[in-house]
Amino acid sequence: MKCVAGGIEGGFVVSLFQSVGTILGMATPDFQGGDILSGKKEYLRQLSAVDEILQLEEIRSLIGTHPRQVVVDAVRTVLEELRRTILSSKDSAELADLELEPKDLVPLIIDLVREVMHPHLKRVINATGVVIHTNLGRSILAPEAVDALVTVAEGYSNLEFDLKLGERGSRHDHVEDLLCTLTGAEAAAVVNNNAGAVLLALATLASGKEVVVSRGELVEIGGSFRIPDVMRQSGAILREVGTTNKTYLRDYRGAIGEETALLLKVHTSNFRVVGFAAEVSLEELVVLGGEYNVPVMNDLGSGVFVDLSQYGLSHEPTVQEALKAGADVVTFSGDKLLGAPQAGIILGKREFVEKIKKHPLARALRVDKLTLAGLEATLRLYLDPALAIERVPTLEMILAPLANLEKRAHRLGEELKKKVGKTFDVKVEKEISRVGGGALPLEELPTYVVGLTSAEFSAVELAGKLRLSEPPIVARLKEDKVLLDMRTVRDEEIPGITSAFEGIAQPRK
Ligand SMILES: *Cc1c(COP(=O)(O)O)cnc(C)c1O
Repeated sequence: MKCVAGGIEGGFVVSLFQSVGTILGMATPDFQGGDILSGKKEYLRQLSAVDEILQLEEIRSLIGTHPRQVVVDAVRTVLEELRRTILSSKDSAELADLELEPKDLVPLIIDLVREVMHPHLKRVINATGVVIHTNLGRSILAPEAVDALVTVAEGYSNLEFDLKLGERGSRHDHVEDLLCTLTGAEAAAVVNNNAGAVLLALATLASGKEVVVSRGELVEIGGSFRIPDVMRQSGAILREVGTTNKTYLRDYRGAIGEETALLLKVHTSNFRVVGFAAEVSLEELVVLGGEYNVPVMNDLGSGVFVDLSQYGLSHEPTVQEALKAGADVVTFSGDKLLGAPQAGIILGKREFVEKIKKHPLARALRVDKLTLAGLEATLRLYLDPALAIERVPTLEMILAPLANLEKRAHRLGEELKKKVGKTFDVKVEKEISRVGGGALPLEELPTYVVGLTSAEFSAVELAGKLRLSEPPIVARLKEDKVLLDMRTVRDEEIPGITSAFEGIAQPRK
């Protein structure tokens, strides 16, 4: 939706136009005869004035419960769309189908007002099975994190106030000790997101100087985050070494000189180089950095605290491992595998982290109090890793036992068969889900889905209707089927899914 002078345009008007289109029937055979112009004038004359519509009983009661300006704008928009439809009409039959009585416009106006007044950012049901789905908000929060951020939102807080000393404090204080306890880091800082963390760390440690990176690690994460671009924005100079598939320690060594400020290792979060490939381990880089007195930074991307390989998944380097290997600075996201709110977490040696905190960009990238509250509560869960796996939804969903997913699939499957079995062919099937969020790209997690086909709708059509349901449901398509993957569906969301399907199955008027 975009704003234009005096109103709102975009999806709003398009959807209205579609409604008007329905009224018109939109049949457009060639118009013949010379009386179309006078016909159009007559129709335009029939259109009510804004004030006349505002006097209608339904519209007056709408104004009683909604901001007057919104209702007035909706009336104007509806009239304007009708005017445009009349003017662009090429067919007298089409014009004759027009319903221009004030009472015919009321439902359109009500729909429009509802659309404006409804939250645009809303909860959706993620039935894609992709756990860390960036387009759907990445991680959902543990109940403890939700409580913490609500509490801080509702009142004032000690965000930057030291209650013991009665003087100014630092917003980093609320999570720094926890982060250090959990990971073994000397110091910690938190910023808005990991892209910001990387930018800030590079700007602080390497502006105007060279940063050595393997060509195999010049990653792009979802469109706008590309290592070479972030590097340029930070003022650091990229010094690429090695090749796409093979980089050796000697490549790094050969690149180190007067101008070198940093050796950077970037986790290839969302892809893997397989086959004829070689990379230098973080441990080796740290030894090399030590030889030349050049710090080593590791952008981990996902930043997991729990070693997932103990649960049968492939190994994703943990934050603790990176610090233990001796990285001077480690950065990662709050809302990927950690399962916290969006944040960029910077850990490492005190001398570097303190410098990073004081850089002028730190203020521009600073983390919000709601994020900090949610992050602190999530981190506290990790003090007991077994509890974290249970309470942090991202981990809980990735590690969900197959039997639970099967049970959920059968529960939903039975409900759907009972309620909409006439319209849809419903089958519970074994499938594969993905972690997403640029983590564990090769991992195939066995799952159960409810697969649906219908004689009435194509899969694409059904997926579209599900997205426009209330609550919206985002499903997965496979060939001619709509799949609802139970890995990312919560038990409490099953009634919402069932009622959405009931709405879709109702015979069309
Ligand atoms: C995801 C990712 C980023 C960007 O993190 P955001 O939290 O999306 O800002 C940077 N580097 C790597 C390696 C990543 O995987």
